[in-house]
Formats: sequence, structure tokens, C-alpha cells
Amino acid sequence: MKISRIEHLGIACPSIEEALPYFENVLGLKCYKVEEVADQKVKTAFLKVGDTKLELLEPTSPDSTIAKFIENNGGKGGMHHLAFKIEDGVANALAECDANGIRLIDKAPRKGADNMQIAFLHPKSTASILTELCEG
Ligand code: ZN
Repeated sequence: MKISRIEHLGIACPSIEEALPYFENVLGLKCYKVEEVADQKVKTAFLKVGDTKLELLEPTSPDSTIAKFIENNGGKGGMHHLAFKIEDGVANALAECDANGIRLIDKAPRKGADNMQIAFLHPKSTASILTELCEG
């Protein structure tokens, strides 16, 4: 697979509204999009950092994976996942990971936030870092 860069870092937040002033007013980053992803039960907010982005993730339901992450983290948010930009197709990258015995969370690419096709790899196979592959 061909990885060109870190596409974004995913950061879980109990409340995007409470987290944003730090990123916008202190760090001077601009939130350019807020989007709800219904099938992942999250609200997302994106901020550009040079060529990469931060993706803030707030749960919209108690059974969201982000809600569970926050619950397991003592009610606090934190670094949630690392996302790579794939230049030669997420489906291709997934097939390559599968052939290398990597545990896949998604067997096929699906629609993610910010107009991306995405798939997740299981942290058991990725040095304990939840890893997202993105294209788009
Ligand atoms: Zn992400």
C-alpha cells in the first residue's frame, strides 16, 4: 500500500463545544466543518493543522464506540485513533493487511466523515494504536 501522510488524528471528546475553545482560541486552529455521522453515532469537528487534520469525536448515543472509549477512560476524552491517507485504494490496503494476518475491523471500505472512504484495523494487530485507512 502507498501511504502519503497522516490524514488526521482522532480525538474523543465528551463535548466538542467544551473542547473547541482550546483548539481555536489558544492554538489558533480553525474548525472548518462539523458533521454528524449517524451510523457511527458521533458528531465530528474537523480542524486543519497544515496538511493534516484533527478530528474531534463526540458521542451522540450511549452505545457509540466513542461513548464506551470515554467511559473506559474515566469519563475523559483523549487520543482515539491514527488515520493514514492511502493513495492506492483502501480496498487494496485492506487486502494487503488481511494477507499479512492483520485483524480487520472493517472487511470493506465504508463511508466516513469528511467525504472519505475509510476502514479500521484492530489495535491488537497495530502496535495497540487504533488505525484508520482513508482515501478521498
Ligand atoms: Zn478518523
